[in-house]
Amino acid sequence: MIREGINQQTAHQPRQSTYIGRFAPSPTGPLHFGSLVAALGSWLDARAQNGRWAVRIDDLDRLRNVPGAAVSILRTLDDFGLWWDGSVVYQSTREEAYQAALAHLQRAGLAFPCACSRREISRTGRLGPAGYIYPGTCRAGYPTDRPPRSWRMLSRSAPIRFRDRACIGIQQVDLEQMFGDFIIRRADGLYAYHLATVLDDAALGVTDVVRGGDLLNCTPPQILLQQKLDLPTPRYLHLPIARDTVGKKLSKQTQASPVCPNRAGPWLHSALTFLKQTPPDKLQAAPVDELLEWALRHWRPQRLLSPPAALKL
Ligand code: GLU
Repeated sequence: MIREGINQQTAHQPRQSTYIGRFAPSPTGPLHFGSLVAALGSWLDARAQNGRWAVRIDDLDRLRNVPGAAVSILRTLDDFGLWWDGSVVYQSTREEAYQAALAHLQRAGLAFPCACSRREISRTGRLGPAGYIYPGTCRAGYPTDRPPRSWRMLSRSAPIRFRDRACIGIQQVDLEQMFGDFIIRRADGLYAYHLATVLDDAALGVTDVVRGGDLLNCTPPQILLQQKLDLPTPRYLHLPIARDTVGKKLSKQTQASPVCPNRAGPWLHSALTFLKQTPPDKLQAAPVDELLEWALRHWRPQRLLSPPAALKL
């Protein structure tokens, strides 16, 4: 069992900065190479700036949670020397905050109930970067013969502009055109990821979100929520996406192999190489501490910089 607090101190002191980073895995399986890259990238970015680093378990989706996965992920982080500050936050304990935010958006007229099924939306909506774009059917009221299923956020707004530290230039997105009114409370009653993550990042005081590039598309809706809930927008750095040999994103859904704590050094070496940090070959067999110390001294996130259009428009 992971003991609360064993992991609260890092050897890499001192700590004076205002930087607060986080790693937020969903407990759908053990840590694989893709999630190790996200954990390592966010840990290094935080620790290299003497910042704090929190871990949050995104366990809202009860159907997708795998028993034992959260403990396994925490234990693996521990084995890999990726120590966090404070207590681990579990989204499943934060329902009250989500409820209050939904009520606020409802009162402000920014959230509306929707009776449409996914199938209906796929019949009438255009395909966008994050799935079918909601065509606005229930914006002006849902049909009286059907109960509403979910709550959606009105996406009508000025263009969302943000900078990603891994992208040259500014990303500008017309949310209504590209994503449409997105779900903030699902038909099954669960609060949606966008709403939960924005509230939890703010509650932790996160200044820097460093996460996988597959979540770049999630950033514009999350920024809209931050704006409408009067929450600060953190800096963003989206890391390259780790893929398998046929080009599919490594994920727990595609049964990516778990990383092996017995070989933590070589896995960390590969993750650093993947993050374009060129660790010397001789560190392949080095103990975890030595590798992480090298990585902290040499962390150059600017090596991840790539031309614009990272957001698949
Ligand atoms: N829980 C999400 C995942 O495992 C990541 C959330 C985030 O970093 O914003 O993909």
